[in-house]
Order: sequence, then structure tokens, then C-alpha cells
Amino acid sequence: MKIDQLHEALAGLVRGPSWRQRRLLGGPQGAHVELDGKPCLSFASNDYLGLANHPALRAAAARALREAGLGAGASHLLAGHHVLHDRAEIELARFVEMPAALLFSTGYMANLAVVTSLLGRGDALFADKSNHASLVDAALLCRAEHHRYRHADIDHLEDLLKHSGAGNKMIVSDAVFSMEGDIAPAEKLLDLAQRYHAWLYLDDAHGFGVLGANGQGSLAHQGFGEKARGYPGLVYMATLGKAAGVAGAFVSASSDVIDWLVNKARTYIYTTAMPPALAAAVMESVRVIRDEPWRHDALRENIRAFRSGCDGLRMRLSASDTPIQALILTRDDKALQVSDLLLARGVYVPAIRPPTVPPGTSRLRISLTAAHQLSDVRQLVANLHDIFDA
Ligand SMILES: *Cc1c(COP(=O)(O)O)cnc(C)c1O
Repeated sequence: MKIDQLHEALAGLVRGPSWRQRRLLGGPQGAHVELDGKPCLSFASNDYLGLANHPALRAAAARALREAGLGAGASHLLAGHHVLHDRAEIELARFVEMPAALLFSTGYMANLAVVTSLLGRGDALFADKSNHASLVDAALLCRAEHHRYRHADIDHLEDLLKHSGAGNKMIVSDAVFSMEGDIAPAEKLLDLAQRYHAWLYLDDAHGFGVLGANGQGSLAHQGFGEKARGYPGLVYMATLGKAAGVAGAFVSASSDVIDWLVNKARTYIYTTAMPPALAAAVMESVRVIRDEPWRHDALRENIRAFRSGCDGLRMRLSASDTPIQALILTRDDKALQVSDLLLARGVYVPAIRPPTVPPGTSRLRISLTAAHQLSDVRQLVANLHDIFDA
């Protein structure tokens, strides 16, 4: 974009189908929020367990603020690696039953770290076409060959692996896909990774805290945790700003992989550590995820109620048992229209449009949480029927 063309280019975007603008959240995240100064029922956050404003997490952070202050003040490798970071890493690794874990300030940075530290020129990355944007960027940055296989298509992936001459390979996939809510065939990915001696990198941003007994995540949910943990090429990542309700992310893998990242990952080395108080909140979050099972039950009940409520709706509903539910429209302007209609009725459901999703698949992305009451879900469903059955 040239300096003197920017203004005109913006004028072309304004209020068009791909114009993006931010709404102002007042007060804390939750099922009921204040958006642009008005109260509304929100299905827009990734706060799947309703922990973003949990009193115990807030208290843990407040306590740590008093004891550790606010800013980390430096990168982990200089003077910023606080004892609270260290303890959080140990607890996270224990919770997902992996040998070691490493905290990152964001999931985006964790994805860049893993892919660029383990792959380089001449290597090959095999990525699901529906992977998160940060994984696409990681692929570009690492300079390896970038093969994208059809969404969840194991045969296509195997074909690509078979024809690759690269010595160092990595398979990378969202464990739960962020725009549709469907679950990756992770055990089959692991089988292929073992057979082709490739790394398997799973991004569990939307599974951690939500899936598996006690919210341990996708490996536990799919019942092959033990097998996966026995493979030294497994690298697992989860974000802490979604179900965990805080911020940041962690990578979990063999201690060799973790040591390698500490030494090589530029998005780990050249950035300030997250505030230690957030690490304290993360530890409290793990405790709540484990010890408040009613949240998982409430979430599952909301998912079931939403899906059965959508019976008869003349719309394609994504095949998803997770909190991410997508109603897919073929016309890209329609998603925005419906989103506006819902908001006028006090219900916020964001429209997701290209380039976040492929053209012709714009959608309403509904995030259900444990903080929603069944009556909230019923209100959403009733409004959808009103709009679509009209
Ligand atoms: C949100 C998300 C990320 C990025 O995590 P942040 O901590 O928000 O930077 C990475 N991968 C997936 C699949 C995500 O949904």
C-alpha cells in the first residue's frame, strides 16, 4: 500500500462487505455484556468456561500483583523469568501429562516459535487447509515447503507425505477448527507422523479446558493420549486466553523440544515475558478447570440445547459437538445482515467473512459457554427461527 493511495483504498472499504470495525466492550467479559454502551446477550467470546471474570482467578492475580508487581520487565532469558512463570509451566505440563511446558505471551507467538524453530529451508510442512491464520504465517516465515492438504483429508495428506523428498517433515493441524468447531482426526495424524517420521504439531486453542475428562484437552478427549505422549515428535500447544480465561499460551513437548525452543525461538527470546500475575491466574484457572466439573456439564448441555433447537432451521449448521457452532450462509453479505438483525434484538453473534473463511462460506460463529443459561440459548434459537423462517 502506497502512502498516497491509502486514503482512497480505505474509502473503497468503508461499510463494504469486508469492512471491519471494533465494538466497544464495557465491563467484564461474560454471557451478558455491555457492547457499544448497550447491554446484550453475547455469543462472541471464546471464554468457553466463563472464567475470564471468575472471582478466584481475579483474586489469584490480585494477590500476585501485590507480591510480584505488574510488569515482568524483561524477556525470560534476561531477568524476566519469574518463579510464578516457572510454577505455571510445571503445573501446565502436569495437567496435560506431558514432560515439559513453555509459556508464551500469545498463541500466535507460540505457533511462530514451534514451526520456525523446528523447520527451515528444504524441510516440508503439511498443513490442514482450515488451519488458523497464525499457522499459515508460521509456514511462510519458516521457509519450508508448504503443502496444504484438503480439510481433514487423511488420504490427501498421506499422498503428499509419500511424494515429499524432504528429510525433516512436520504435520500441523488445529485440534479443534476455530471457524467450524469440528475436531481433527488427530489419532490418524499421529499414525501418519509416526509412519513418515514427521513432527506432529497440534494447536489445541479450542480444545484445552473444554474437551476430555476435566478439560485436559483434545489428546485426552480422543483417547490416545498415552500413545501420543510416547511419540517424541509430538508437540502440543494450547492457548490460555480462551477457555482458561486469562491470556497467553503454552507449548508442551519433550524436554529436548522445550530446551530447543528456549534457545532458538525468536518469539520466545526477543520479547518481554508475560506479567507474572497472569501466570498466577493461569495456575488458578487450571485448578478451576479441574475442580469445577459443573462448568463442563453446563457447557455440554448448552451445546445440546442449541443444536436441537436448530432443527428445522433452513441453514447449514456445522458438524460440531464443541462450543463453536457455525451457521453457514452462501452469500457473504447475508451473514453481516443477520448479525445486525440479531444485534438489534439484543443478541450479539459475529459474522465471519472472507478472508477469515473462504468466499461463499460466510457464517455466524456462535460460541457457547458455561456462563450461558439455558434460557440464553433458547433466546438465541428463537431469534434465529424468527429471522430465518420468516
Ligand atoms: C486464537 C487462536 C490462536 C492464537 O492464540 P492467541 O493467544 O489469541 O494469540 C492460535 N490458534 C488457534 C487455532 C486459535 O484459535
